[in-house]
Amino acid sequence: MQQAILQLQNVTKRFLENASPAVDNVSLTLQQGDVLGLLGPSGCGKTTLLRLIAGFERLQSGEIEIGGQIVCDYSTYIPTEQRDIGIVFQDYALFPHLNVSENVAFGLKHFSKQQIQKRIAEAIALVRLEGLEKRYPYELSGGQQQRVALARALAPQPQLMLLDEPLSNLDIQVRLQLREEVRDILKAAGTSAIFVTHDQEEALAISDMVGVMRQGHLEQIGTPEEIYTHPASKFVAEFVTQANFIPAHRQGNLWETEVGSFELTANHTHDTGEIMIRQEDFILKPATNAPIVIRTRRFLGREYQYCLQTPSGKELHARTMTDVALPVGTRVQISVTVNAIQVFPQ
Ligand code: ATP
Repeated sequence: MQQAILQLQNVTKRFLENASPAVDNVSLTLQQGDVLGLLGPSGCGKTTLLRLIAGFERLQSGEIEIGGQIVCDYSTYIPTEQRDIGIVFQDYALFPHLNVSENVAFGLKHFSKQQIQKRIAEAIALVRLEGLEKRYPYELSGGQQQRVALARALAPQPQLMLLDEPLSNLDIQVRLQLREEVRDILKAAGTSAIFVTHDQEEALAISDMVGVMRQGHLEQIGTPEEIYTHPASKFVAEFVTQANFIPAHRQGNLWETEVGSFELTANHTHDTGEIMIRQEDFILKPATNAPIVIRTRRFLGREYQYCLQTPSGKELHARTMTDVALPVGTRVQISVTVNAIQVFPQ
């Protein structure tokens, strides 16, 4: 059975007395070996939460437990170096005057010489930097520097890794490649990890669990599939999938909207709301008298992205495979590929 490696209970952090908290009553559990992606817009408290777990900040109330030990509550504060964690920042933070091996060796001072050599070799192999041991940071690409930072954090074999937007400074190609590898590297090392990002796709691709934050709160935590298919709020749906929302009112078994009627699939207590349609769930059928018109079309390789205009002038975004190309100006009828239309109260 999996064990909890990290537990937060009602963690609250306020920087200024009268300001709203940067982290507001957050509780969560991270299971041994899992990667938690912490996702949310700029300023929602992701970095502050990570810094609290790392021990760079003190909390006002609540409790943080790592590996079964309370590291921070109202009376306890265990310093960072005694928390058995590895940390990777956005800006690599390598020592410029040390080569790759020496950078990786940095956190290993308390091991024997033999152990140090073994761990350096293992960590460098894990991040696939063999052959570059003697290079200095300025002789490495951004992606390679971030691999060194990962190796340095992993070498002491910490029980928990904290990664704060580690891929943000890399260009898109390297970023996409390294994000696959980071997950493999963490899994191969067997380390539990929290990965902060504001990139939805990155969070879904890398994580076993995703936590979505908003204004200091943890709005939802669940598997990537749960978050994607059953967002707990309109905010989560908008942030994670950039879904469309269309005002609707209930009539018998149907939700009526300006773009058509959709079947009721759950027991709703409210009569008005907004139905959610993800961009990739649309089916578009040309129909001469249909009220919806294609305003723009963008070619994205495998898909087209369409901007549709509804009779009230609202814009909807839809993505379909490129085997059917509908020209701008086409009038279309809308249906959806999913059975379950989700409705949020207005
Ligand atoms: P980003 O994605 O932009 O890095 P974030 O989600 O990581 O944002 P935080 O950096 O945790 O957000 O900031 C949360 C809130 O706390 C913000 O309103 C920020 O202005 C505030 N804050 C962060 N650090 C401090 C500080 N040292 N003093 C005062 N306020 C702070």
